[in-house]
Amino acid sequence: MTPARRTSADVRIDVLSIFPDYLAPLDLSLVGRARRDGLLRLEVHDLRDWATDRHRTVDDTPVGGGAGMVMRADVWGAALDAVLATDGPTPSPGEPPRPILLVPTPAGAPLTQSRAQDLADELGAGTRLVIACGRYEGIDSRVAEHYAAAGLARVQEYSIGDYVLGGGEVAALVLVEAVARLLPGVVGNPESLVEESHGSAGLLEGPVYTRPLDWRGLIVPEVLRSGHHGRIARWRRDRGLERTAARRPDLLDRLDPGSLDRADKATLASCGWVDGGEGRLTRFEVRDAVPDDAAALAALAGATFPLACPPGVPVADVAAFVAAHLSPERWAGYLADPVGYVVVVAEAAARRPGLLGYVLVVLPSTADAEPVAADVAAAFAQRPAAELSKCYVVPGLQGTGLAGALLEAAHDRIAARTVEGHALAAVWLGTNRGNRRAQRFYRRHGYTAVGRRTFRVGDAPQEDLLMVRRMSPSGGGLVDAG
Ligand code: SAM
Repeated sequence: MTPARRTSADVRIDVLSIFPDYLAPLDLSLVGRARRDGLLRLEVHDLRDWATDRHRTVDDTPVGGGAGMVMRADVWGAALDAVLATDGPTPSPGEPPRPILLVPTPAGAPLTQSRAQDLADELGAGTRLVIACGRYEGIDSRVAEHYAAAGLARVQEYSIGDYVLGGGEVAALVLVEAVARLLPGVVGNPESLVEESHGSAGLLEGPVYTRPLDWRGLIVPEVLRSGHHGRIARWRRDRGLERTAARRPDLLDRLDPGSLDRADKATLASCGWVDGGEGRLTRFEVRDAVPDDAAALAALAGATFPLACPPGVPVADVAAFVAAHLSPERWAGYLADPVGYVVVVAEAAARRPGLLGYVLVVLPSTADAEPVAADVAAAFAQRPAAELSKCYVVPGLQGTGLAGALLEAAHDRIAARTVEGHALAAVWLGTNRGNRRAQRFYRRHGYTAVGRRTFRVGDAPQEDLLMVRRMSPSGGGLVDAG
C-alpha cells in the first residue's frame, strides 16, 4: 500500500528564539511556499514569553565567572516543555517518534547534506523537529542534558561552519531550508536534487550555464551545446570530479572507489588521485625526478620491468637487462643528463611510501638524429622524435589511471622541449606485440601503430609493435627563438 502523503499537520518544525522576527524569511521562497501549500507546518516562538520577571530576562552570568551571559535553563525548560506539549504530528500506530531537539552551536557536529537528508526522512516519518536558538555564550548545558536523559527528545547539537555567529537564528534558517527542500513536493523537479553538490555521489557539482551562449566573449562550452546526452553527462561528471579534487579533497578521502568508472578514474588520476586499494582513494604527486631518486627508481624499475616481459624470456636474461639498463648507476646517469632524458615519477602524498610509477623518455641528441635502429627509423618520418623508453606503475595501481597521468605529464615535458631550436615533432615507442592492454592504453593517449621492430632482452628476439604520437597538429618545427 502506498503511504498517504503527509500534510503540514504532521510535518512540523518549531523554532524558539529571542528574535522571532529573525525567522521572517521562512515566509519566503521555497519554504514559504511549502508552508502555504500545506507541505510543512512551521511555528516560531518567542522565548521571552516564558520569562517570569518584569524585564522578561532569559540570561544570567556564568557560574564560575567569565565573560558574557548564559541563557537560563529554567526559562528554556518552561518553553520547551510547553512547545513539546502542543500538538505534534498525528501519531503513527505504535510508539510515536520522539521529537528531535536541535541545538545550533559552533561546538556541534557539522551539518551536512546527509544529516539534512536524515532529518528530512525523520520529518517525513512524523518526527517533530524543535530548534533552540541560543544567544550570548549559549544555553545552559543542562538543558540538552535533561531532554536527552529524560527521553523527552533526541538531542542533536549542530554547527553550520567553523566560525562563531552571534546567535542560532541563522543556523536555524540554514537547517530549515536545507531540510525542507528535501521534503517530497517542495522542489518542483526532484531530478534537480539528484546530481547536485554533496548528493549521493559525494562530489561537488561542476559549473553551470544558461543563455546567452556568448556573454561578454565568454562562450558556453561546446559540448553542452552539442545535444549529445552521453558527452554532456561525461563532461559534467569530469568537471565535478576536478572541482572536488581542487576545492574539497577531503570529500575524495571519503569517496568509495567502487562508485567510480574507468573514465572517472582517469579524470581523478589527472588530478592526482588513484584507487590505491583498501577501499580508499590515494593522493599522488607527479614530478620531475631528481638525482636523489636514483636508488628508488632502480628498485621500482627492477620490480616492474620483469613483470612486463613476455613469457619465455629466461629469468637470467631479464636480470641482465635490468642490471645493464636500470641499475642505480644507470639511473644516476639518466638523472644527471637532463638534456638527454626526461624522467617523471609519481609519488604517494602520504601513507604508501616510495615511488608509484615512472616514465623514462630518451631525447634525440640532434634535431635530425635518427632513432636507434633502422626498422624504427624507417617506420615514421617525423623528426626530431623522442623515444618513450619506459612507462611503468607498481602492479596494484595498474588500470587506475596513474600510468595515464604519468604519460600525459611526460608529453607535457616533451612538448616544452626543443632540440637545436626545433620542437619535438613526435614521440615513439615499442611495445610487445602480444601486450594488447598496453597497446589500447597508448592508443587512448594518441599513439598509432606504424610498424614493427625486433627488441632483444638477452638473446631472445621479441617482436614489438611500433607506435607514434605526433606532438602537435603541425608536427613540430623550428621554434621562433625571438
Ligand atoms: N560560547 C559559544 C562557543 O564558543 O561555542 C559561542 C556562542 S555564540 C556567540 C551564540 C550562539 O550562536 C550559539 O549558542 C549558537 O546558537 C549560535 N552559533 C554561533 N556560531 C554557530 C555555528 N557556527 N553554528 C551553529 N550555531 C552557531
